[in-house]
Amino acid sequence: MTDRKTQLAANLEQVEERIATACAAAGRKRDEVTLIVVTKTYPASDVRTLYELGVRHVAENKDQDAAPKAAACADLSLSWHFVGQLQTNKVRSVASYADFVQSVDRPKLVTALSAAAVRADRETGCLIQVALDAESGDRGARGGVAPDGIEELAGLIEDAPGLRLDGLMMVAPLHGPYAGRQQASFERLMEFASSLRAAHPAANMVSAGMSGDLEAAVAAGATHLRVGTAVLGVRPRLG
Ligand SMILES: *Cc1c(COP(=O)(O)O)cnc(C)c1O
Repeated sequence: MTDRKTQLAANLEQVEERIATACAAAGRKRDEVTLIVVTKTYPASDVRTLYELGVRHVAENKDQDAAPKAAACADLSLSWHFVGQLQTNKVRSVASYADFVQSVDRPKLVTALSAAAVRADRETGCLIQVALDAESGDRGARGGVAPDGIEELAGLIEDAPGLRLDGLMMVAPLHGPYAGRQQASFERLMEFASSLRAAHPAANMVSAGMSGDLEAAVAAGATHLRVGTAVLGVRPRLG
């Protein structure tokens, strides 16, 4: 194996062990939790190596980096998750390779994604990004809709051609009453996820937890973890 492959294998093994331990502690089955590796700022060659090591879900947060990477890896059976703030002028590109957009946070984006998915003849899985630090009607600093906007977006996505409502996503807030309280913020997210499922039973994905807080997310009940640094290493600045 190349040095890089050996390193990624060791990192993946450590992350896998953390997830398994967290699942056991929470009385959850390991297969209730899906690992998504966030490959942003790292090259397509790393994506390929991760695939060889068994990774099947990858995430990116910038279209300009993600589009060429997805094209370079088009021969692999990977699910691509888009997790960054998304401008409507990038939607057409993103819809051409993303299987999931986890950062849906406003009605305009739903309209644009729907048109792009239909045009590309694809179905895009949508997660509504929730920001606990956003005020009603606003978005959070890192994107996301305030909790009282979830249901409106859910209805719009469900009615939009080309889109599928899959669940909720959150990045633990850095500001506001939940700052530094990952566990509490993930538990709050799970409450919103339960309400969403009551109205939309198929929307059962809960994407929460990153390198630093994946245990708290597993304990709360997350179904998908988005892990970058712990697998690929610390990103260069501006990543
Ligand atoms: C970068 C990123 C991650 C991964 O963060 P790490 O701390 O590197 O694991 C997860 N989610 C989103 C939305 C990200 O942008």
